[in-house]
Amino acid sequence: MNVYDSERMSDSLNKTHNLVSVPDKADAILLNTCHIREKAAEKVYSEIGKFTDLKNKNKNLKIIIAGCVAQAEGKAMLQRQPIIDAIIGPQMYQTLPSILSNKFSDKKIFLDFDEEEKFAKLGWKRNNALISSFITIQEGCDKFCSFCVVPFTRGAEYSRSLEDIVKEAESLSQKGCKEIILLGQNVNAYHGKDKNNIQINLTKLILELEKIKKLDRISYTTSHPKDMDQELIDLHASSKKLNPYLHLPVQSGSDIILKNMNRKYTVKEYLNIIEKIRKKVPNIALSSDFIVGFPGETKKDFKNTLRLVNEVKFAHAYSFKYSKRIGTKANRINCSLSEEEKNERLQELQNLLKNQKKSFNSGFIGKEVDVLLKGKGKKDNQFRGVTKWMQTTIFESNKSEIKGKVKLKINSAFDNCLMGELI
Ligand code: SAH
Ligand code: SF4
Repeated sequence: MNVYDSERMSDSLNKTHNLVSVPDKADAILLNTCHIREKAAEKVYSEIGKFTDLKNKNKNLKIIIAGCVAQAEGKAMLQRQPIIDAIIGPQMYQTLPSILSNKFSDKKIFLDFDEEEKFAKLGWKRNNALISSFITIQEGCDKFCSFCVVPFTRGAEYSRSLEDIVKEAESLSQKGCKEIILLGQNVNAYHGKDKNNIQINLTKLILELEKIKKLDRISYTTSHPKDMDQELIDLHASSKKLNPYLHLPVQSGSDIILKNMNRKYTVKEYLNIIEKIRKKVPNIALSSDFIVGFPGETKKDFKNTLRLVNEVKFAHAYSFKYSKRIGTKANRINCSLSEEEKNERLQELQNLLKNQKKSFNSGFIGKEVDVLLKGKGKKDNQFRGVTKWMQTTIFESNKSEIKGKVKLKINSAFDNCLMGELI
């Protein structure tokens, strides 16, 4: 979502500013920030520190901090780093052009929650489109998982209107976008209004977006298991454009931990959803997020997570060590687990997930797949694209440029990518 937000902020300055490639050439530096885990949040300060010399040399240089760290730390951020000119929370990006044209004189802090005005001002017109582009359709969260800062930094659940989203998708498709990835912290809780002011769900929205002829693929992320309804599961089977990919974070395989996390589902309920979706789309790529070392997680709880992973067999996954976040409920629970034990658990889980990813990808060896080209690979003659199962795929060619969609035969598979040849 921060990638999308950065694109939209950059779009909003399109008439008054140009992007430069290095900070020393800039009149303004905008840093977009993530507060989800401590490591990401702390990184912001070391990044800002790097701009001190530039600010000393050029007093007119504006340093602006956007995103969830700005939202969470507010005034304290200005006190810790006085070189900052303004901080903007994730629901106030529409103020950026006015801040840069000095319309607010001394005001430095912009942290209100005004999603409606934000999206109205940012509009739906996109200046640039990637072949695979993001569109935020839903923001914020009302679920309050005990470890998570999102409800505090992004605010309450908000859904954009159907009309706004369709116009944005059309604008992207006219500029060459073939795949849209619908974004939301709880994307499957989407409940925007249509033009008759009637509430619609994610399934209806996807059905409308499918009508855009030039669009080939649609994906959505991140879903919450509680909001994974039968209609959406059925759509995976009937839709011609929905990717066979589902990111459905489970976080833990222990019912006690899930309860303490306030996730609102049990292991059995999660496995039921997986069974239903696999029945409809047997080759679906399933993905998840995991947290290890949540306060109170015993050896047995962790083994239950491994057991769930062994049962589901994921094609993709993200896993993290629990990170204490101020203001969350879990921050008040004592944690006796040593750092060493947490690291060991994370390693064990990641090794298992790595093998599963490799095994899923190995199933593609010898097969032909369509790949949307995203750019060059690491080596000079390499190109990089993505399959509809969201696998990064690399191939070689002596051509200087290849764009659009290509067909590849897959020759080898790794945990994080496929390698193939042009057909
Ligand atoms: N809305 C999504 C997740 C959004 S946050 C969901 O409900 O699943 C993205 C991921 O960051 C989470 O799935 C979780 O695995 C991780 N995360 C969030 N807070 C965390 C914390 N305090 N410590 C470690 N990982 C965390
Ligand atoms: Fe955070 Fe997701 Fe839970 Fe909302 S549902 S509080 S975004 S982890």
